[in-house]
Amino acid sequence: MKKLTIGVIGYGGMGSYHVEHLLSQSDGFQIAGIVDLSLERQQIAKENGLKVYDNQNAIFTDDQVDLVLVATPNDSHKEISIAAMYAGKHVICEKPATITAQDLEEVLDISEQTNRSFIVHQNRRWDPDFLIVKELYEKGEIGDIFQIESRVQGANGIPGDWRHEKMHGGGMLLDWGVHLFDQILWLVNSPVETIYTDLSYVLGNEVDDGFTTFLTFSNGLKVVVEVGTTNYTKLPRWYIKGTKGTAKIMDWDLNGEVVIAKETNSIAEPTPIKAGVGLTKTMAPPSEDSTKKRGLPTGSVMEESFYENIYNVLTRGSQPIVQTSEVLKIAKLMDQISEMDTDRVLENSQFV
Ligand code: NAD
Repeated sequence: MKKLTIGVIGYGGMGSYHVEHLLSQSDGFQIAGIVDLSLERQQIAKENGLKVYDNQNAIFTDDQVDLVLVATPNDSHKEISIAAMYAGKHVICEKPATITAQDLEEVLDISEQTNRSFIVHQNRRWDPDFLIVKELYEKGEIGDIFQIESRVQGANGIPGDWRHEKMHGGGMLLDWGVHLFDQILWLVNSPVETIYTDLSYVLGNEVDDGFTTFLTFSNGLKVVVEVGTTNYTKLPRWYIKGTKGTAKIMDWDLNGEVVIAKETNSIAEPTPIKAGVGLTKTMAPPSEDSTKKRGLPTGSVMEESFYENIYNVLTRGSQPIVQTSEVLKIAKLMDQISEMDTDRVLENSQFV
């Protein structure tokens, strides 16, 4: 197998995770070395037996290097990716590809002009929890799905690095939002009809510390996407309602259940329960003979890992699993969401 040689630009948290974990998804890659502005990260790379280049140009002019991984803060992806492609290198770029859709369009133009691949690491298409949702959506075990709620919630605030700063493309919309919107837009083959977003600034940073977005699609599906960093107790990672059942995935450890309505005409009425100081039949649990509980399904299968796919794209002309047109669609959606900044709405409001 011909090996492709990769140079890593940005050997921080994610750059080193690619080197130490993700690249081994395929035997087709070897590492040329890394470049990082931080002396500390350079030192760690050396201790890990990696070659440390003096600067990114030294990687670009190394004829051995076929492709570069861009794993630097978000605001630098565009410039580094363009320079790499002009230097004849293919690019794997961390998410979010760029800060705006217009920036991404410029990058994609250069990719076309230089005939170099630009592939974005939208890795959460491979997440097992998401693949379960994909299977439920595609196979109809809980009927036609009409509502999906996708949430990630933490209580640690925005990480204390460049993610705090607007100039570096900080904020949770660009950080986790891009993953969650990518999953939804990849899953749902129907145009987005309406978008409503509430961006949160409760921690007082210049960038959002989370958000809640409501999307409706032309096929009738409604989706809630929520990212929170001030949630001291969490809601389920996924909550999905279909015409024949409901599924709940609690966490990345895949705790959860699928509850399906039994197809029978002789279902016993639910027994009323005491609810607070009142009584309810409507909100009582369904009678036992009316539903069946299942464990979560195994999930859709991805034929190739991210790096196997890249290897096949670059050596065999396969289609990338993460298509640039899809990434552009997410960037456009996120542009629209950014424009719905709640603060601006409040400033302009004439109502008390
Ligand atoms: P980080 O701060 O841990 O690492 C970034 C590194 O880049 C630092 O070591 C910094 O010194 C270096 N750097 C900055 N500018 C540079 C430049 N011009 N040239 C060379 N090195 C430079 O950040 P991180 O968490 O690793 O995030 C990096 C990227 O990876 C971000 O775009 C982030 O969104 C993405 N990311 C993706 C995932 C995922 O699951 N796909 C997870 C985490 C981070």
